[in-house]
Amino acid sequence: MSQFDLILLHPPSVYDFRKKAILYGPVSDLIPPSPVFEMYPIGFASIAEYLARCGYKVRIVNLAVRMMKDKNFDAEVFLRRLSSEVFGIDLQWLVHAHGVIEVAKIVKKYHPQAKVLLGGLAASYFYRELICYPEIDYVLRGDSTEEPLRQLIESVKSDKEPEAVPNLVWRDNMGRVWENPFTHLPTDLNDVMVNHYKNIIRSALTQRDLQSYLPFRDWLRYPITAIFTCRGCTQNCVICGGSATAFRRFFGRKVPVYRSPRQVAEDAKRISHFSNGPIFILGDLRQPGEEYAYQVLELLKKQKVKNQFIIEVFSPAPTEFIRQVSLACPNFCLEVSPESHDPEVRLASGKSYTNQALEQTLSDALRFGCGRLGVFFMIGLPKQTAESVLKSVEYCGYLLEKFKGDRRLSLFMAPLAPFLDPGSLAFEEPQRYGYRILFRNFEDYRQALVSPSWKYALNYETNWLSRHQIAEVTYEAILRLNRYKAKYGLISPGVAQLAEERIKKAREMLYRIDDIISKGFDPGELSSLKPEIDRINMLPVSEKIELELPVGLFKLKPWRYLWSLATGR
Ligand code: SF4
Repeated sequence: MSQFDLILLHPPSVYDFRKKAILYGPVSDLIPPSPVFEMYPIGFASIAEYLARCGYKVRIVNLAVRMMKDKNFDAEVFLRRLSSEVFGIDLQWLVHAHGVIEVAKIVKKYHPQAKVLLGGLAASYFYRELICYPEIDYVLRGDSTEEPLRQLIESVKSDKEPEAVPNLVWRDNMGRVWENPFTHLPTDLNDVMVNHYKNIIRSALTQRDLQSYLPFRDWLRYPITAIFTCRGCTQNCVICGGSATAFRRFFGRKVPVYRSPRQVAEDAKRISHFSNGPIFILGDLRQPGEEYAYQVLELLKKQKVKNQFIIEVFSPAPTEFIRQVSLACPNFCLEVSPESHDPEVRLASGKSYTNQALEQTLSDALRFGCGRLGVFFMIGLPKQTAESVLKSVEYCGYLLEKFKGDRRLSLFMAPLAPFLDPGSLAFEEPQRYGYRILFRNFEDYRQALVSPSWKYALNYETNWLSRHQIAEVTYEAILRLNRYKAKYGLISPGVAQLAEERIKKAREMLYRIDDIISKGFDPGELSSLKPEIDRINMLPVSEKIELELPVGLFKLKPWRYLWSLATGR
């Protein structure tokens, strides 16, 4: 008998990342995880809690974190020792295309009787190709797989064919593929994401395996948590695979579904029981309407949670909204992504607002005491030339001047990489938006991820920028932005110098790799560069340092948490 009913595995982006020589780009610099993309989706926590509530034994293993934290950790031996009836591997983000398949192969090799399941948005998009891999038995489609997964485990445990499990794609014993109806799209989230953080901590303690449950490598040092407000989105950013149109076309969801304001506020309260770290409220609170946003803010105000909140807005917000945010979440952080300084490029990307409106929101946020103001610009947009990218950097300089070098202003620039999302409007209608898609099949993506440099993994070019130009202008833009930040004292001279060094070395390495490829790719020559490539990849990233909020000396509150577990309060 297996020890667990389900083990959820999170793979690294590239399975053997410790052996491969890959120059990562400034792709993951704006998120807490590293280029290994070791953060597992929040859906893991929700699934684990839901199934535990239904009486099943579930374990989460963040394989990527285990492999990163210990260079001697043998993932294959570890996987061989696991015991479960079903192994679920997440493919929420396509950047895990390589790791997912390799981990599935190892699981199948040592546990031929166990079932291997994939789920997540990228898995839902590529389900037809994925089910053809012999290592994969099931693909569960959609953004809400808690209940279908419960039904699937029930059918596996009772040795029945899963023909009644909604959203499931599966292969029977004869090798025939079945696509069950895609009908499970809950319009109410009251039954999921209930106390999922508490369940994670309880599981980590009872299974005595904190490492496997860490959301990302440095989480204990920087325990940022997230609260989901919805599944789906109201917006149609043309580069996004989670847009309203993508959800409608590929994930069956016609309109987003929201958690109630009470659930959102309760999540915040629960998190504050075990963590002093920042809490990111994902999704613009105004999506379901301003009334919803004000209800959430009112509840947060009453709760007096002391953690710093990160609030995102999809477009400039009214002054009153910012004021209410400041009252509910003192020292809040605001994040906004205008994408470009040029309203025409912004409009072509699916966002329609002026710089004047943007600057009003920035000014309001600073006036109402925000602790940090994150403004994000992208490279690789429709109608965006190299010149336009560099003008966005100049616009950052203008903002720094306008707000007198206010140190709370954090400006970021990143390429749209490694992939333009399949499912996004630009991917599905490339000619209309000025894109050329270089890879279409899942297997192409799996191979692309092991390219020697991030430039060769890019799955698109635009009418305005080739892959090479995207890489070139990215380094130039980040270099110039870094100098602005140093000039206005946003980063220390030491950090600025390190960042400059990193960018220059990475650019130089990109050319050396180009050279190796142009001479007829020699894997030996590339391998000899590995120590140097690793050093460049490991150099500190100033954007990451800037993005981190101060969390104080006592980041976690383990005793308080154990007390609440013991007393149920
Ligand atoms: S990028 Fe745009 S479409 Fe995608 S989730 Fe954010 S707001 Fe929605």
